[in-house]
Amino acid sequence: MTTFADLGLDPKVLSAVTDAGYEKPTPIQAGAIPPALQGRDVLGIAQTGTGKTAGFVLPMITLLSKGRARARMPRSLVLAPTRELAAQVAENFDTYAKNTKLTKALLIGGVSFKEQDKLIDRGVDVLIATPGRLLDHFERGKLLLTGVQIMVVDEADRMLDMGFIPDIERIFELTPFTRQTLFFSATMAPEIERITSTFLSNPEKIEVARAATTSENIEQGVIMFKASRKDRQAKEKREVLRALIEQEGDACTNAIIFCNRKTEVDVVAKSLVKHGYNAAPIHGDLDQAQRMRTLDGFRDGSLRFLCASDVAARGLDVPSVSHVFNFDVPSHAEDYVHRIGRTGRAGRQGKTFMICVPHDEKYLTAIEALVKNEIPRVENPLGSAAPAPAPEAADEPKSEREKPAPRKRAPRKSAKQEPAAQEAPTPAPDRAPREPQGGQKNNNNNRRSGGGRRDDKVVGMGDHMPAFMTRSFKSPAVD
Ligand code: AMP
Repeated sequence: MTTFADLGLDPKVLSAVTDAGYEKPTPIQAGAIPPALQGRDVLGIAQTGTGKTAGFVLPMITLLSKGRARARMPRSLVLAPTRELAAQVAENFDTYAKNTKLTKALLIGGVSFKEQDKLIDRGVDVLIATPGRLLDHFERGKLLLTGVQIMVVDEADRMLDMGFIPDIERIFELTPFTRQTLFFSATMAPEIERITSTFLSNPEKIEVARAATTSENIEQGVIMFKASRKDRQAKEKREVLRALIEQEGDACTNAIIFCNRKTEVDVVAKSLVKHGYNAAPIHGDLDQAQRMRTLDGFRDGSLRFLCASDVAARGLDVPSVSHVFNFDVPSHAEDYVHRIGRTGRAGRQGKTFMICVPHDEKYLTAIEALVKNEIPRVENPLGSAAPAPAPEAADEPKSEREKPAPRKRAPRKSAKQEPAAQEAPTPAPDRAPREPQGGQKNNNNNRRSGGGRRDDKVVGMGDHMPAFMTRSFKSPAVD
């Protein structure tokens, strides 16, 4: 078994690693650190959660321990796709370099150029930046990249998704040909292959298993959901989300809720707050200070629910997330892997649920093809029964209440008039829900007491219920 002591790291780095409580290197660390220390280029195919950050930060600190920084000429450069990810690398650097005198600067948007210029002017050993901001500094003539000895590109596949590849190519060209390159990507898309074959020189390639897809400590489930009406889909999905949260109860200590669009992130966060949940949004349109505050709150446990877009949450390291909810099925299958990889980290148990509407079934198929597994179908915690207007049916057995309704529309009532469970949307008659797998049971502990329960049947009418009894009636819209 390889130990950290076997890898050839500086003793100061080793003691910081011991303080961090790590017992042994992860596979990406064991694979990447020795060639990096030999000065070789490294191509790491690994995603977040594998320990890849330490995989490049530890050898960088060791290699940079000799020599000094010169004004405006950083000795090394780490490029990350998002501000949060860059900030996270900076935190890792602080942890592992605490016994050294190495300096760093973090160049990200949302922070004043003046402050950042001051740091660069003094000379830094490690410059951690997002590509756009780095080029802004460069173009203002405040930065020289000709002293870069080590360049790291982190999360290259996300850089590709975000359209940063031309910036990355430009930055590569601004750094010396003799630099050492450590390049990390979760996948090797053709465009990434092209970049690596152009800019890396005979790299040591290390590929680690997709932790998130093979991880047995993440319990996955998908709820196949059809709204009672297309225009009520978003609202009804939010009801399902709340019911899922309630169903998980105290086991859900904190969660990230992923949505595909920034506007949806905002709406879901607002709606959760309105329903008394401790939630906040994070996405690219929010200002940096607010994003940082939200993230800090989530890390320190004062915020329970983080509603996030893929870009904002990519690579975030929050070690103790109990749940991930996919409010939407991601349209890029890869994103599913990244999203669920936020939970079940560092050997902990994690649980993840996704809500899939008919339109998104094609994306679900793509995800299942990618992870080479069927994601277990779990029952909608609101039950699959259509709400019916007969309050006296409230005490019928659960199995009766959960039969699919023989009609398309559910009668509506306002949330104030009735408990959450009764707002269950009506499934279409042709789509009986699949049986839950993996021992998942329907759990109705989200059903609050009070108010009359509706049912899919009107008692006493047998199978010949007149249609008018099932017709919906108007009520004020609710969230
Ligand atoms: P990363 O993939 O770099 O985002 O790291 C994921 C998490 O693993 C972080 O919380 C690290 O602190 C943690 N970690 C990194 N290396 C090790 C290690 N050798 N043993 C245990 N945890 C580690």
